[in-house]
Formats: sequence, C-alpha cells, structure tokens
Amino acid sequence: MKCPACGTKYKGKKCPSCGRHTDAKLEARRNTRIALLVVILIFAAILLFYLFSTLDYFNGIVDMTRNSLDG
Ligand SMILES: [Zn+2]
Repeated sequence: MKCPACGTKYKGKKCPSCGRHTDAKLEARRNTRIALLVVILIFAAILLFYLFSTLDYFNGIVDMTRNSLDG
C-alpha cells in the first residue's frame, strides 16, 4: 500500500509516516468526529457568549439595586 498523502509504502490501513488512514470508512468516521467537534465548539462559544451577556445584564441589575439601596 502506498500512502496517497506522503507516498510512503506500508502495510495495513494507517500510514506510519503521516498517520493518514487509507481505509475510507475510518477516514470518513474521523472526518465526522472532527465535524462534530467543530459544531460542539461553535455551540459552546455561542452558549458562553449568551451566558456572559446575561451575566452582564444581571450584574447591571445587582449594581442598580445596590446603588439605590446605598442612597
Ligand atoms: Zn503518509
């Protein structure tokens, strides 16, 4: 088997030189996992942004209440 990425000759389904899978199913599964990871990261970023924006909102209310209580 010859690696399509770096041209190294090897036996098996994974290139020992660059680590690339030549098994189509494995490659697809890895790509799916990467895509899933990207989606999760984007979702987490949106969630964090949302969380921080609401946190800011609540902090503003707390500050406002504290200020009015202080006089
Ligand atoms: Zn390779």
